[in-house]
Amino acid sequence: MILSDDFKKYYYRTVAKQSDNFFTMKKQKAKHEEDFDGIRIMEISFMPKGSGVSLPPFGILVGRNASINLKQHEYGHYLQYRVMGFFRFYIEVGLPSLWSATFHPRIHYLQSFEVDANRRAREYFGVFSRL
Ligand SMILES: [Zn+2]
Repeated sequence: MILSDDFKKYYYRTVAKQSDNFFTMKKQKAKHEEDFDGIRIMEISFMPKGSGVSLPPFGILVGRNASINLKQHEYGHYLQYRVMGFFRFYIEVGLPSLWSATFHPRIHYLQSFEVDANRRAREYFGVFSRL
């Protein structure tokens, strides 16, 4: 049997990787790397490149040509919103995040709610995670 290169690529990117990640696979919900189920992602031309903000349930706003990594991170905030609910999310994540991104941008990514957003996104995207 001759396997096409496309098939081999598919196999190593999905099947082989999935058995490597057998335990994480059980939790994975995403069907592909841009499976942003439940919320809209909008590319906004006037937003700074590489920036993003998650405003659930309205949408996720990102700059033009935003990376998949950034979109997956912002989706992690949406996953926080889903378990926390509207008020808890904006009080415990939304406002502190806006504060730290504005006044402490260099250590923003170290904040617990930022680390937590990445953890949730990694779990959701599983083998498709870029984080
Ligand atoms: Zn964030």
